Amino acid sequence: MSDINPNCDGGHCRDPKGEVRVYPLGSGGNLILCRACWEHENEFNRYQQNKHFAARELWPTRDWETAKHYPEETQS
Ligand SMILES: [Zn+2]
Repeated sequence: MSDINPNCDGGHCRDPKGEVRVYPLGSGGNLILCRACWEHENEFNRYQQNKHFAARELWPTRDWETAKHYPEETQS
């Protein structure tokens, strides 16, 4: 369990100091996820979308590359 990232809301971390980004949920909330958990969340959501017809709004997949950093980068 030493790979858990303390800044990440997920449980599939591979790097305790890895970057985390904001994953917006379909319900209006957010998750703060590291890269490994991000991919896991996308996979889970893709699975849900396939299982529940027309459920893309509830289980949206997100693109890591275009996601907001967390905490948000400040201009300096
Ligand atoms: Zn994580």
